[in-house]
Amino acid sequence: MPEALRDLSWPALAGVVLAFFVTLTVANVALGFALERAMPKRKIFAVPLAEGQLGHELVGNVVFLGVTVATVTGALGSGLIRFGEESFARGAATFTVMLLGFQVFYYFLHRAMHVRALLRFHRWHHESQVTTPLSAQSVSFVEACGWMFGYVALPLALSYVAPLSFWGLAGYLAFNVSGNIVGHANVEPNAPAAATRGATLFANVFVYHALHHARWTGHYSFQAATMDRLFGTEYRDWPELYARVSQGKALTSLQERGDSYAPLKAPAGSGSR
Ligand SMILES: [Zn+2]
Ligand SMILES: [Zn+2]
Repeated sequence: MPEALRDLSWPALAGVVLAFFVTLTVANVALGFALERAMPKRKIFAVPLAEGQLGHELVGNVVFLGVTVATVTGALGSGLIRFGEESFARGAATFTVMLLGFQVFYYFLHRAMHVRALLRFHRWHHESQVTTPLSAQSVSFVEACGWMFGYVALPLALSYVAPLSFWGLAGYLAFNVSGNIVGHANVEPNAPAAATRGATLFANVFVYHALHHARWTGHYSFQAATMDRLFGTEYRDWPELYARVSQGKALTSLQERGDSYAPLKAPAGSGSR
């Protein structure tokens, strides 16, 4: 960890962490809404937002940022995460291991939250049936605490396998927050080359997660479709819906389906909307 941070008092460290996450949030929310405005012909759902949705999402963001800032400040200030000497290799390895580890972690967290017993903590996020950039971090207090296993406990555990790069971890968290926020915009900016089965092993098109919000089940993955593909929770018809949206035909109903649509088997113990 940089000495300048190590020497800070607790309140000053909290201030730096707060500035990091709030700046990322504000910049990416602005970018997401700007994309929606700049590409009106690439709108995903031509369905109005629920009444009071943006206010609800704002409250969720405040909860998420509060939990994140407190947890990350605690992790850094306590010195529990082991950081090694900075090098390009350590930075790249830290970023890559976090990128893969977070996807595996988030998939199981998300599946768990759809189990009947935990669903009440996840309903907050699903109040957004048509998403906005503010939907990404709009979660309940308990769900925000769940995310902290990915933001803090995962790197903490990894750092005892091998010391991490501080900048690799900070870079990954910035990437995670940015992708999450912009990826919830109700717009599809991706070119067709990004919407193939091969490309979505690395990054999803925006239609992909929009369908999770519209349909409730399926598409539990974060960032890439890989985990859904491995566990059979990927819809077959999303490429058709991507094609419609990319041709300027926004989806006019949350129930819209492609010809290749097939229902997914509901996982055992999963609760319904
Ligand atoms: Zn969900
Ligand atoms: Zn979401």
